[in-house]
Amino acid sequence: MPELPEVETVVRGLRGVMEGRRIASVETRRGDLRRPFPGDLAPRLEGARITGLDRRAKYGLIHVDRGDTLVFHLGMSGRWRIDPPALGPHDHLLIRVDPDRLLALNDPRRFGSVDLVRTFALASFPPFAGLGPEPLDPGFTPSLLARALAGRSAPIKALLLDQRIVAGLGNIYACEALHKAGIAPGRAGGRIGMSRLVRLIDAIKDVLEAAIEAGGSSMRDFAQPSGELGYFSARWLVYGREGKACACGTTVKRRTDSGRSTFFCPRCQR
Ligand SMILES: [Zn+2]
Repeated sequence: MPELPEVETVVRGLRGVMEGRRIASVETRRGDLRRPFPGDLAPRLEGARITGLDRRAKYGLIHVDRGDTLVFHLGMSGRWRIDPPALGPHDHLLIRVDPDRLLALNDPRRFGSVDLVRTFALASFPPFAGLGPEPLDPGFTPSLLARALAGRSAPIKALLLDQRIVAGLGNIYACEALHKAGIAPGRAGGRIGMSRLVRLIDAIKDVLEAAIEAGGSSMRDFAQPSGELGYFSARWLVYGREGKACACGTTVKRRTDSGRSTFFCPRCQR
């Protein structure tokens, strides 16, 4: 499932192909993904120029010069294929941009989504309304996090997955960041001191940036004509490592917070 760093990597990859280009054609090859494609997708986008690409939480944003933004989510299995040599049954949306480049949104399980939103109204687009700060934004600071956690007795791990506290962090990166910061996942969010919140913010930014960097380097391998953007492997220190040794030698444990698996080292994290 694509997490924030994968989506960021995808957006950067698409930016190189799409930014500044005119959209020559838009074709949907079925009616829906998780929900129907907007019926007016082609007329609103064809002929428009792509002014920029961004990411918000785990959504990719493609802005055009008509005041519209295509908002995509990769769901469980979505990926963009750049100049695929042949189309497959799961290439559900095709966007051709000048000069003669083809972007195919491929999504076998169809949990992804595509929406067309007026750019000025993005903040009130339902998935974005009430969304907290971007974890990589300079405005995501220890004091901001301290205010969001004040008085909260829920486990910090669960709170880090609350989209109102921080947008799109995701389970893997919440586990890895808590390990890097040395904070036990079950600790009450409101009872973590400022010096540890400073370490936590640094750890969140570090693990995300390292993953984005890993994605960027693996993307060079994807830069084939059949190149597929969307996934890369990474090496986790605790995530998915229950029963294996942490770098300190202690066995990594698993617990459940708000129904999600949390992996942690009982020695490194207090
Ligand atoms: Zn350890």
